[in-house]
Amino acid sequence: MAVLGRLMDHVRLIERMAMATGTDLVGAYEAGALSQADWAAMVRTCRGCAWAGNCGAWLDRHETVPCAPASCPNRQPFRDLRSRTPARAEGGK
Ligand code: SF4
Repeated sequence: MAVLGRLMDHVRLIERMAMATGTDLVGAYEAGALSQADWAAMVRTCRGCAWAGNCGAWLDRHETVPCAPASCPNRQPFRDLRSRTPARAEGGK
C-alpha cells in the first residue's frame, strides 16, 4: 500500500492548484458545490498522488493555467468546481 503524503502539505498544494486554475474553493463550499466529503476526497486523492513530488515545482512555473495538468488526479474536480462557481475577484470583492 502506498504511503500517503502529509496532510497539510497536500492541503497547500490543492490551495495552490486552485489559485492557479482560478478555482474558488471557499465560494464553491459556500455555494454548496463542494461538500466536506468532496473536500476530504480531494485531499485524500492529493495525498496519494504519484505526481506530488513534481507538483510544487510545476506550480512555481505556472501562475495561472486554464486547468490542472493531466497528471493531476484532481483535474476533473477542479474543472467541475471552476465551472460551477465564478472565481472571486482580487481582494475578496
Ligand atoms: S497534481 Fe497531485 S499533488 Fe498536485 S494538486 Fe493535483 S493531486 Fe495534488
